[in-house]
Amino acid sequence: MEEIRTILIEKIKEADLVLVGIGEEFEENMPKMEGTPMFSQALRMMEEKKELMWMMPYLKKAYEDLHRTDQTEKAYKALEVLLKDKNYFIVSTRMDDYIYHTSLMEEKIVTPCGGYRFSHCEDETHKKLYESDVRISEKIYGFFAEGASLDSIQRPFCPECGKDLVFNRIEYAGYMEEGYLAQWDKYTKWLQGTVNRKLCILELGVGMRFPTVIRWPFEKVVFFNQKANIFRIHSKLYQLTEEIKDRGYKVEKKPMDFLANWFV
Ligand SMILES: [Zn+2]
Repeated sequence: MEEIRTILIEKIKEADLVLVGIGEEFEENMPKMEGTPMFSQALRMMEEKKELMWMMPYLKKAYEDLHRTDQTEKAYKALEVLLKDKNYFIVSTRMDDYIYHTSLMEEKIVTPCGGYRFSHCEDETHKKLYESDVRISEKIYGFFAEGASLDSIQRPFCPECGKDLVFNRIEYAGYMEEGYLAQWDKYTKWLQGTVNRKLCILELGVGMRFPTVIRWPFEKVVFFNQKANIFRIHSKLYQLTEEIKDRGYKVEKKPMDFLANWFV
């Protein structure tokens, strides 16, 4: 593994531009929420009490935040070190928004599957994005943990019709692409600028959940740009196609294990 890391550092150093893809495997192993006694109890309560059902996505966020260890932080830190002073762009299908809490530049990141940052009305005809109040997440968890009643927690609602606001994530109905299109536009322009230039691609845990967003387009970029290299890091789907394997490096590893504890 040390050898491939050395090559990666070298290739990034040589490159004019670095393109990073972050996929679904870029996450920590977390036990299932349903299998955690306190959370499963909270979930049951929200399922049974119709007026508390809106809280479930917020509880899910609280669960993720609480169970994240410093492995995530260390993995992103390694990425920050690798990309320091480089001209880079990051496409991530992660929806946990953690990347926006790192020192990676927001204007160099696009998250086309959405996340927790924005919400929209559950009525799909009310096409408007609102900034989410994610603090509600901690509040719900805190109240539940203390045994306090959740009834007093104010439900975020659509100012137009009063219905529930839902997080703007691809998994929920009414997903609004407007949440990322401006950044996507910047990304495609940046990508046009990579033509015929030394490009290093780092693909971290990108599987087949959304292959048209990162995996396949990245392969195409490497295929057409003879000066491009690709590092594909994935525990199972690390294989490279015939056309690009001469300029590719595959690492059979979970991306977090590959990155964390590297520089720190
Ligand atoms: Zn509405």
